[in-house]
Formats: sequence, C-alpha cells, structure tokens
Amino acid sequence: MKCFQCKRGKMVSQVTEMKAHIRGEEVAVSTEALVCRRCGLQVLTDEQSKAYTIASADAYRRKHNLLTTKELKEARKRLGMSFREFAEYLKVSEASPKRWEAGLVQDEAMDELIRLKTDLSTARKNVADLEAKLGLRATASQSQAMVFQMPRRELAESQWRARGASVSVGGGRSAPGLCGIPATALRTARRESDGVHNSTGKEPSSGGAPFSSEC
Ligand SMILES: [Zn+2]
Repeated sequence: MKCFQCKRGKMVSQVTEMKAHIRGEEVAVSTEALVCRRCGLQVLTDEQSKAYTIASADAYRRKHNLLTTKELKEARKRLGMSFREFAEYLKVSEASPKRWEAGLVQDEAMDELIRLKTDLSTARKNVADLEAKLGLRATASQSQAMVFQMPRRELAESQWRARGASVSVGGGRSAPGLCGIPATALRTARRESDGVHNSTGKEPSSGGAPFSSEC
C-alpha cells in the first residue's frame, strides 16, 4: 500500500509507540499501525484502531491500578455471565460491560464494585477490614473472657471504672490486649493479684502477655 501523505513510501504494518490521551492524561501505547517507511506517517486500520483503544485504556488502567480489559473479561467469565447478566449483576446498563471490554475506562468506584462482586480474596479482605472498623475482631473470645474474669473479684467492673479503664470485651478500638481486655488493664490486674505495689506508678516494662495461656 502506498502512503497517503507522500504518495511514494510503502505503508507497512508494525508495532509502533504512540501516545493516547485519557481523562486528561497522556499515556504511552505500544500498538500495531501502518507506518510509511519513507515519511513516517502512522495510520490505523479499523481493526488496529480497536486494538489501539483497548491498549490505551489498559495503559491508563495499569498506571492507576484498575482492572484491565483481560481482567474484566476474566472476572465476568469466572461467573459464567453474559454481558447482559453481568450488567444486571452490577446494576449498570447493559452497554457498560461491553464498553469496558472495548476500551472505555471504568471509574474507580465501579472498579472496586466489580472486584468486590467477582473476586473472593477482595471480598474476604473487605469483610475483615469491615469487622476491624466495626470492632468485631475479638468476638470469638468473648465467652472465654467472661469466664476468665468471674473468679477474680478484683476485676469487678466498678474497680475498672474507678481506675479509669473500661472493660472492653470485644472492643476492637482499644489498645491490643488479651481476649478483648485492654493491655493496660491486664497489667494492672496482674500487679494487684500478685500483691506487688509499684510505688513509682510506672507500668512494669515487661512486654509479655501475662495471661496468654488462659485464652
Ligand atoms: Zn509517506
């Protein structure tokens, strides 16, 4: 094929470095194009244009840690869904999943929704993060913590309050302790039950967990 520009050079198909502009950002794209050997004119056929659009979107996605075309397709296929089913699943228009896989960059919120609804590890991590935020991490230890407290009269709730500490069973936002009991409370309890009086008022420097065997 002769060049449209110089009319003399030969156009050959080759992988070319091109620039694309996506959401106001310039990204470098490596894609196949027809290039004139003489004047350097670059032209895209219809097929090459489609590939260029996808390659550009993927270059932007990789830069911003968004799912690429291949990953989007894999996510949908993993669930065995058609475009229509996937769209219904995500509560978006039917055209959207088609457009994403053709090179329209999904926004960040949609990218996260797709991951949450198609990827187990992301969904599990989300549950763990949410539990931590809601302070539910120590739930499994609650009953054990109650048994542990019962025989020790010095651990009565009124005393905890008097010491300015709160018995926070299952409270995830307090300082890390054992069975949901704040570490500072445990250290105080240990000192008192051992009959040790620390006149300096400083906390014992021992970093060990005094009651770990009971949890
Ligand atoms: Zn030319």
